Amino acid sequence: MHDIQARASPRAGSAIPAGATGVITIDLARLRANWQALAHHVAPAECGAVVKADAYGLGASRVIPALVAAGCRSLFVATPEEAAAAREHAPDAAIYVLDGLLPGTEMQLAWTGAVPVLASLDELRAWAAASDGPAPTALHVDTGLNRLGMSAREVEELAIDRELLRRLDLRLVMSHLACADEAGHIMNREQLDSFKRLCASLPQARASLAASDGLMLGAAFHFDLVRPGYALYGGQAAPERTTPVQPVVRVSARILQVQDVAPGDRIGYSASYRATAPRRIATIAAGYADGVFRHASATNAEPGGAVVIGGRRAPIVGRVSMDLITVDVTDLRDPTPTRGDWVDLIGPELPIEDVGAAAKTIGYEVLTRLGPRFHRVYLDQGA
Ligand SMILES: *Cc1c(COP(=O)(O)O)cnc(C)c1O
Repeated sequence: MHDIQARASPRAGSAIPAGATGVITIDLARLRANWQALAHHVAPAECGAVVKADAYGLGASRVIPALVAAGCRSLFVATPEEAAAAREHAPDAAIYVLDGLLPGTEMQLAWTGAVPVLASLDELRAWAAASDGPAPTALHVDTGLNRLGMSAREVEELAIDRELLRRLDLRLVMSHLACADEAGHIMNREQLDSFKRLCASLPQARASLAASDGLMLGAAFHFDLVRPGYALYGGQAAPERTTPVQPVVRVSARILQVQDVAPGDRIGYSASYRATAPRRIATIAAGYADGVFRHASATNAEPGGAVVIGGRRAPIVGRVSMDLITVDVTDLRDPTPTRGDWVDLIGPELPIEDVGAAAKTIGYEVLTRLGPRFHRVYLDQGA
């Protein structure tokens, strides 16, 4: 996939300090290609990009310019602070703030030129009051997720409040799907119908319903603008369908030690794993501080996560600790893994979905938990 071959040093072609124990490689050319593939998939709807949480942990300061260069014109962040940071890298894009209007942030949002996604009449009134002319506004209506968004009752109230509507420049009406990762789920149709009804009761505005999973449900869910995050970063959010994107992230770390253990030897904290035969164990410089989930630990009874060495999987054995994991490499030969070798924690043969599943979580959390200790390398062929 990338320059990094499992046994070759990732230093080839990039400046990685000799002391770096782990490397996160982020392929910006792939990211741009993913955005373009999704834009093509949803056309004539517009494809935006969700870049909250530091672009899902991949670095908003590098991800946003790449997306803008690809043609993206609408960005979604969670917080006012993320909006201000995004604005530095996207002077002309529309920036929507999903958390809405925190009391006291009106001036900051206006200064940033960000559009808050408002979820109540109180927020709408406060935002309108802080603006001289009609206030640029996005509206979050709830259609069944019951997380953030205006209730149908509040939307009704808004729809007849001419005075308030006059003070708003309604740029976008959006809602969020609860079960879009299951194409057959009844809630998809219910939320779609509810969204259409609510939009019809409001003044004409652009509409947005689908995130990464929803945009795979078909054109009926695309409306004017889709809001993918995870898919842009290479994630497969809709398990039943293949989203037309490629992996963007590779995470590699180094082997510190390889040792042979005897039958009966225990491995790691709490001695939670016991060798039942002679085993060869590699200790790798990656732990939960780097984003390897402690839930990926393995006991004899319950397997956990794995790494890939030279294209072959090696299972984690014992506890994941802060800086280290131990993996069983007994079956890996020609060549046998040795000290200093690079192994993949995420890579072409180890997608983020598998890494998440092995820790009883999802690829989203895998990305957003990548630790700060690993060196970040951005590939950008063709930029
Ligand atoms: C995070 C988020 C998205 C993006 O979701 P993905 O599944 O990453 O595409 C879209 N809309 C809302 C409201 C969100 O909170």
